Amino acid sequence: MTATTPIALPMAFTGAPLDLAENQRDTASLTVFSKAENARALIMFQGRFLVKNGDLVMVHPMQVKGAHLYDPGPLFLGLDGNIPIFACSFAKEDEALKLVKGAALDHLRNLSFLMDGRPLALAGRAKSLLDWHRSHRFCSNCGKESKPQAGGVTRQCPTCETDHFPRVNPVVIMLVLDGDNCLLGRGPEWPDGAFSALAGYVSPGESLSEACIREVKEEVNIDAENPVFKFSQPWPYQGQLMMGMFCTAKNTKITLDTKELADAKWFSKDTVRAVFAGAKYEEGKTFICPPPFTIAHQLLKVWLAE
Ligand SMILES: [Zn+2]
Repeated sequence: MTATTPIALPMAFTGAPLDLAENQRDTASLTVFSKAENARALIMFQGRFLVKNGDLVMVHPMQVKGAHLYDPGPLFLGLDGNIPIFACSFAKEDEALKLVKGAALDHLRNLSFLMDGRPLALAGRAKSLLDWHRSHRFCSNCGKESKPQAGGVTRQCPTCETDHFPRVNPVVIMLVLDGDNCLLGRGPEWPDGAFSALAGYVSPGESLSEACIREVKEEVNIDAENPVFKFSQPWPYQGQLMMGMFCTAKNTKITLDTKELADAKWFSKDTVRAVFAGAKYEEGKTFICPPPFTIAHQLLKVWLAE
């Protein structure tokens, strides 16, 4: 696998300039941070963020005192310069909504169309960590309830003392190329006409290159070669880390794995260029492109520029 220079393009969910403050996560330091005048907390309720006028609402952490919060309570994300940033997952919708007059709750996917840069990266990081806490309350070693540690960046089991660290799940996502054509697939649940890059989880004991070649073979029965890593993206759904790749096809006949895909097709560079230029979806001719905040969109964009 050839490593290339990291991205020179804006990648959604990256770019939060946070100091994780690893050495300042003791109880005393966390108390100082939470009381600092400039401290701020993002507010979530069941996967949705508190927003107002298209921006994330950030309140002072002391404002959430007394509210019902899910485990781990106020989660210390880190320092943005000298600003302590927290995230809180509310257990009661009305308690979240009443924090700021006129605020509303919205899903991260909707916000991804509206926000970019730092706020989206902060929201993605908060969601990934809070999702991990929600799904890892119990020790995987002995089954007893674990407790958040160090402001919520880890958990520890008080019974067997096993430390638990947030999971990141690597996924390969690749454009399969054949000259001026690229292969895109459509998942069974996707809207008509929506096509994207093939993707799949990396298996234990597998390199990214091997995962890329295996996934292409499994999903469309095409032999791929020359996998090249392009860039990656933290994807705040199931803690995924998307590893964007290109590979080339040794043969081009598609045989679908219908459990994974509803369809897969070769699209020419001219077609992809037309779609990026705004061509409307026409069945059999064009496709609906993955949105700009996805790594699949960025992979296609880079391929068009090559
Ligand atoms: Zn345990």
